[in-house]
Amino acid sequence: MGGGQLGRMFAHAAQSMGYNVAVLEPAADCPAGQAANRLIKAGYSDVAGLDALAAQCVAVTTEFENVPADSLSRLAQSVFVAPNAHGVSVAQDRVAEKAFFVASAAKSGVLPAPHKVISSEADVQAIPDDLLPGILKTVRMGYDGKGQVRVKSRDEVRAAFESMGRVTCLLEKMLPLAYEVSVLTARGADGASVVYPIAENVHRDGILFTTTVPGPNITDDCARKAQAAAQAIVAELGYVGVLCIEFFVLADGSLVVNEMAPRPHNSGHYTIDACVTSQFAQQVRAMAGLPLGDVRQHSPAVMLNILGDIWFAHDFVTEPLASGGLPLPGGAAQANADTVREPAWDKVLALPGANLHLYGKEEPRRGRKMGHLTFVAPTLAEAQQHLNAACAILGIEP
Ligand code: ATP
Ligand code: MG
Repeated sequence: MGGGQLGRMFAHAAQSMGYNVAVLEPAADCPAGQAANRLIKAGYSDVAGLDALAAQCVAVTTEFENVPADSLSRLAQSVFVAPNAHGVSVAQDRVAEKAFFVASAAKSGVLPAPHKVISSEADVQAIPDDLLPGILKTVRMGYDGKGQVRVKSRDEVRAAFESMGRVTCLLEKMLPLAYEVSVLTARGADGASVVYPIAENVHRDGILFTTTVPGPNITDDCARKAQAAAQAIVAELGYVGVLCIEFFVLADGSLVVNEMAPRPHNSGHYTIDACVTSQFAQQVRAMAGLPLGDVRQHSPAVMLNILGDIWFAHDFVTEPLASGGLPLPGGAAQANADTVREPAWDKVLALPGANLHLYGKEEPRRGRKMGHLTFVAPTLAEAQQHLNAACAILGIEP
């Protein structure tokens, strides 16, 4: 279910193990559809489309967390679905997700940020002082920092709530983050689970910028706690498949659970190039009822998201996209920021340990995830050094 880059990389992993993949997605040209053996062009709630998918598959998963839970329930009547509607419905609703984190805190040992549901003027008036300053987040459909407004007073909460069309929101206390980490885990139908090394994430403008593993700031104690929390959370959910949990680490070293994604996650892309079993191969194993794979990381890694912005920068360009998209060395830089130009992949791929993953998206747009680069090296310092060199080539501030 879903035609994005996560589905594309899942298809690659499944096909490398000999499986065929069908993708259900309303958009005609999509990253996963390009890679899939079959594309069912239908909406996520389209009954005929869902039934066609169920008829052609032995197992269904989702790469998009906003697939309606009802669609997953319908599919589950005739085919194995992992993750199931319950796990996805909790993760796609911030209120249900926070309530679940609070209810499972005795087992996980972690709590979410202090928060309050805002769905009326009375809720705005009842905001306790110590929840401000905070962040007002829409309960559904938020991603990459979209559907979020930072607020300092009740008046600002009211204005933000109005600007979001008075849809139910969650006000979260703004916490002083020392850094952000995520834990990728997978659980099989037999209840066995694995947990990947903890990843340290840097966000820029609300979008994941880099993931570094091992994280330079992560203490052994923090890693152990976050990994144990993640495994308690998937067990508590009765979850099957790959799930990623984001945590905040505060200045005193304490952990706060932020949110979970019921699927492979952007911060787990490094596993493709740096771990024995990638997060996508792991999802294939969980769906197929196979033993979960070895999560061992064989090389330190740094992942950089490639956003559409760099197709518009102009101090690094080689040749226009009209050349067929292939970068030709020695092209003259032209100071025209409106011209779409292919980044200098030839120079980037000359750096040691570079792995380029592009998602097949035709149109680069600012803020759009076009691909990612993972640098692996014998030491983290070398991987970071090569990543910094790539940033310089691509015109990205490191
Ligand atoms: P994603 O792209 O992960 O789906 P999202 O739009 O669902 O993101 P969050 O992960 O909740 O939103 O928030 C995005 C970022 O905003 C966080 O990674 C963090 O940097 C910051 N942030 C969110 N909540 C808080 C908070 N309570 N205190 C401080 N910073 C926060
Ligand atoms: Mg997030």
